[in-house]
Amino acid sequence: MKYEIQVNHKGTYDVIVVGSGPAGVAAAISAGRNGSKTLLIESLGRVGGISTSGMMSHFTGRCKNKLYLEILDRAKAKNHYFPELEKKYIDPELLTLTYIEMLEEAKVDILLYTTFCDVLMEGNAVTGIICHNKSGFCRYDAKVIIDASGDGDVAEKSGVEYFKGRESDGKMQPATLMFKVGGVDTKKAVFPGSFETLVQTDKGELQALAKEKLPHPAGHVLLYHSTLPGIVTCNMTNVTDIDGTRAEDLTRAEIICRKQMPLIVDFLREYVPGYENCYIIGSASLIGIRETRHFKGLKTITEQEISAAVQHEDAVVFDAHFNFDVHNISGAGLDKTGCQKHFKQNKGYTIPYGCMVPEKINGLLLSGRNISGTHMAHSNFRAMPICVGIGEACGVAAAIAAKSGKQPRNVDPAEIRKVMGGTENG
Ligand SMILES: Cc1cc2nc3c(=O)[nH]c(=O)nc-3n(C[C@H](O)[C@H](O)[C@H](O)COP(=O)(O)OP(=O)(O)OC[C@H]3O[C@@H](n4cnc5c(N)ncnc54)[C@H](O)[C@@H]3O)c2cc1C
Repeated sequence: MKYEIQVNHKGTYDVIVVGSGPAGVAAAISAGRNGSKTLLIESLGRVGGISTSGMMSHFTGRCKNKLYLEILDRAKAKNHYFPELEKKYIDPELLTLTYIEMLEEAKVDILLYTTFCDVLMEGNAVTGIICHNKSGFCRYDAKVIIDASGDGDVAEKSGVEYFKGRESDGKMQPATLMFKVGGVDTKKAVFPGSFETLVQTDKGELQALAKEKLPHPAGHVLLYHSTLPGIVTCNMTNVTDIDGTRAEDLTRAEIICRKQMPLIVDFLREYVPGYENCYIIGSASLIGIRETRHFKGLKTITEQEISAAVQHEDAVVFDAHFNFDVHNISGAGLDKTGCQKHFKQNKGYTIPYGCMVPEKINGLLLSGRNISGTHMAHSNFRAMPICVGIGEACGVAAAIAAKSGKQPRNVDPAEIRKVMGGTENG
């Protein structure tokens, strides 16, 4: 059967960003602010990726890149309901609006409900993308494409080398569908925020009870404050053996998590102080995929560099702090290689620009959780503040490349630092 697809050319940009998670939004804002004609493409109907559509509770860890601090301040300024709440806590509605305002101010064109499908290449350089949306297939050309899709969909189609999951066997971290419960007595409620937080109750210790009572592979308690009274964000559904780059796996994960949700609520009502009358009020519209592809960049950041807080000479992300947040690959709780609450990082680490530049492909930058790093390093830099820092640097680098006609690999990290400003380590 012969089947022809019509592809309409819709525009030419300096910079196109694919994916609007924290890394994509930051990249688009910073490219736009630095004078690039910029397009941001997102397959969902909302910007923010996991930070909004994923129903995230809070930014964990930190970095010293200016744009991250600006996003926190601007989102917090919109929260007139609970001014006393720490600014790291997220109201997904207000954060979405904050992103939209910042993107519009930076004159970024936003295109929602549009999925990246393929790349156009000249030799080893990406020159454009093919997308699909309600209008059909469309083509956009750009001097630089920033892949902030989380899974590196653009990099994969461009032929950038990658491996999935952990180096030893390709297994990836489990997936979680976040949800919120209302009706919580927050004065009395407990908020175990890490697997290593143990809470003794009259009925037993909560993490142990969860392991015993919840349907495998669920079996841990992670509960977070929200920005609204009586409402708590639950990070407690859990599915293993999921490859987030396969639609069949994503569907299976979504269904398993949805079946776990009422059982988790029964558990909360029975065993967790303050949650005796809780009920589900909503769930994320984007399943939380923690880990998929790791690409080969000019440089690859490792867990050893993070632990030693190496100050790279081509650093563009500064004073990054988080832990090694490796969830159990085959069940509930923390993996034996992971360390959450008890991880101590006294000095912040840096991320070199080379981790954002694919080793062999031109016209392309990697932003967010799909930069070049080991499985263990990724469990740290995937935290949203650090992804925003990466995005800011990518946006500046792409703007410099587009303006000067250089390939991203030839942009000087010192120039990126100078343009970003306010990134001195300390
Ligand atoms: C369950 C869970 C809980 C977490 N908890 C925290 C936490 O408490 N604090 C914290 O700081 N971090 C947390 N993280 C980590 C953090 O949320 C992610 O690592 C971070 O959001 C990654 O940012 P990103 O911009 O790289 O990708 P994402 O946030 O994943 O965004 C990628 C975007 O690209 C879009 N996209 C994908 N493919 C395409 C395509 N082909 N075409 C168009 N658009 C596409 C997606 O729809 C999405 O909007 C959590 C992650 C998960 C999964």
